[in-house]
Amino acid sequence: MQTQLLPVSPETLARAGELIRSGELVGFPTETVYGLGANAMDADAVRRIFEAKGRPGDNPLIVHISAIDQLGPLIAVKPSPMARALMDAYWPGPMTLIFPKSDLVPMAVTAGLDTVAVRFPAHPAARALIDAARRPIAAPSANRSGRPSPTTAAHVFEDMDGRIPLILDGGPCDVGLESTVIDVTGVEPRILRPGGVTREMIAAVCGSAGVDPAVMRPLKEGERPRSPGMKYRHYAPTGELTIVEGGPEAVVEAICGLYDAALSEGRRPLILALSDHLPAYGERKALSLGADAAEMAHAVFACLREADDLGADAIFSEAVPEDGVGLAVMNRLGRAAAFRILKV
Ligand code: AMP
Ligand code: MG
Repeated sequence: MQTQLLPVSPETLARAGELIRSGELVGFPTETVYGLGANAMDADAVRRIFEAKGRPGDNPLIVHISAIDQLGPLIAVKPSPMARALMDAYWPGPMTLIFPKSDLVPMAVTAGLDTVAVRFPAHPAARALIDAARRPIAAPSANRSGRPSPTTAAHVFEDMDGRIPLILDGGPCDVGLESTVIDVTGVEPRILRPGGVTREMIAAVCGSAGVDPAVMRPLKEGERPRSPGMKYRHYAPTGELTIVEGGPEAVVEAICGLYDAALSEGRRPLILALSDHLPAYGERKALSLGADAAEMAHAVFACLREADDLGADAIFSEAVPEDGVGLAVMNRLGRAAAFRILKV
């Protein structure tokens, strides 16, 4: 299959909408990461997503809508006052809510679960695509399973060339990390996956916000997380990634030691560091994660891809505090490192 990579325009959106309606897959930009979309109401189209990504069949997809009135038919009961408050505050935006599903949503979308994940994206191209398709779009991130999520159309092309007919290029993604997934089926909102809508933002609306224990630790043998995606080794570069946490000077010193030791063993080490700290690493090979957690959210997946491109086999990364969007950054980095975290 020939994969076309085209800029977003009225013509390409119309073409993409037709492809979705005819059961095909389209790569498209959102404010979080690029998505791989299919008609959410067509089980066969949805199965193609799993094939194209090599995604395990028990990892459910998020259904994307372009107007609040598209939510009703997807869910079994009316949103609770808590869910409504979150929707009013943060939709459209990088927030996914988990509801009891209606019978209209194919089991292929929810991977057999009786709940459905729904998001109303803010990105104009994502919304225009859903409008052009005239139906909700089921879409996971547009990477092959186990690869870092794509934050540019070129990343999607790297992973999906020959597997899908069309990728819409809308430039680099704003947030750079996937949406915050929140279970709103209980009394308190519970964060199953942290993202751009932070715990603090959720608590500001709901009074409190729980964080699923699977967010910041490895899963136990046989454990079934509430968000099935959490059980897979995600976002992992080929090289072995270690996170080094502590005071800035101690971290720089420890990473220099680890880097030099790896080099003398004949390995190809690489450092991921906050931009302010780069000079402290001297001649050592290092990539910038940006100046703070928000810039790290942007840079982290691209850095992990670049680490692979550079052939790095021992990667040492600095950490950021787990507040605000820092929780999402450390969740993604932590999983990429299989939670190999060295405290100094
Ligand atoms: P992706 O779009 O690739 O970032 O993956 C979607 C994420 O949403 C995965 O981590 C899923 O586990 C999560 N998800 C989707 N549907 C549900 C659901 N019904 N319950 C809990 N988590 C879900
Ligand atoms: Mg994904």
